[in-house]
Amino acid sequence: MSSRADLHTHSTFSDGLLTPTQLIDLAYRRGVRVMALTDHDTTEGLPEALTAAAGHPDLTLIPGIEMSTDVPGSEVHILGHFIDWRDEDFQRQLVNLRESRLGRARRMVEKLAELGKPVPWERVHSLAGEGAVGRPHIARALVEAGHVATVNEAFDLYLSRNGPAYVERERLTPTEVVETLTAVGGLPTLAHPRELDHLEDLLAQLKPAGLVGMEAYYQDYSRNDVQRLRALADSCELIPLGGSDFHGMGGPQQREPGDIPLPDEPVERLLALARERGVLERT
Ligand code: AMP
Ligand code: ZN
Ligand code: FE
Ligand code: FE
Repeated sequence: MSSRADLHTHSTFSDGLLTPTQLIDLAYRRGVRVMALTDHDTTEGLPEALTAAAGHPDLTLIPGIEMSTDVPGSEVHILGHFIDWRDEDFQRQLVNLRESRLGRARRMVEKLAELGKPVPWERVHSLAGEGAVGRPHIARALVEAGHVATVNEAFDLYLSRNGPAYVERERLTPTEVVETLTAVGGLPTLAHPRELDHLEDLLAQLKPAGLVGMEAYYQDYSRNDVQRLRALADSCELIPLGGSDFHGMGGPQQREPGDIPLPDEPVERLLALARERGVLERT
């Protein structure tokens, strides 16, 4: 079932393969009318996205971001919708995060060389272009170098959290990210929570910091997953949201923009909250 809304997508400004314009045109053709661009640790794609969205008067484009955070043993990603991306302190923080991504990517490339799977750093850098560099860029360089057949295999063999080439990077805690996003008027949502340990505890910690939503509709989440996560969101008074997390990279878990069963009702709740907080005009 497809949805009118997709609140989680990536462009070439982070690790997606489509430009914001291509992404928005594709989503629009597929029937999406409320969409968020949520690149990793960058809002640099938003000016282009807003221009592209202006070409579709019945499309609401929500300025967003996805920020990675670290907890012992796993990663927690937080989306921020309706952020004031022009805020200078916020932008300075994002520049720092992107610089730490660069250093970490370099160390991962060094580790790969030690493992006998060299990839040219210049190639990783040029695949990332002006955008926030991430593991998917290294994965593509590994495919190009012939060390693996697919991006997924690159993650399975080398780049996943427990993989031999994985390197941690400096990250904020989930609470710090929720507070940072809230400080710039953003509405924070916990991303893809299905595999997170101690989810109830995390929500209890993040809710007072300003968390407003949690993804319950995502990629291959089953009806059971959705039901469980919806019930949890309800009990924590969080809006059950979601998106495709479309990167344009293919692979078994990819969903096309809008290709998730996110109903209109929670999307309307998010828009109503944005209106109440006076941030809806950022669309
Ligand atoms: P990074 O931000 O550098 O830590 O990379 C995280 C990104 O890598 C995620 O947003 C996904 O796009 C991608 N990713 C993570 N795990 C996998 C996987 N197993 N297969 C393919 N892509 C993945
Ligand atoms: Zn990504
Ligand atoms: Fe994520
Ligand atoms: Fe994502």
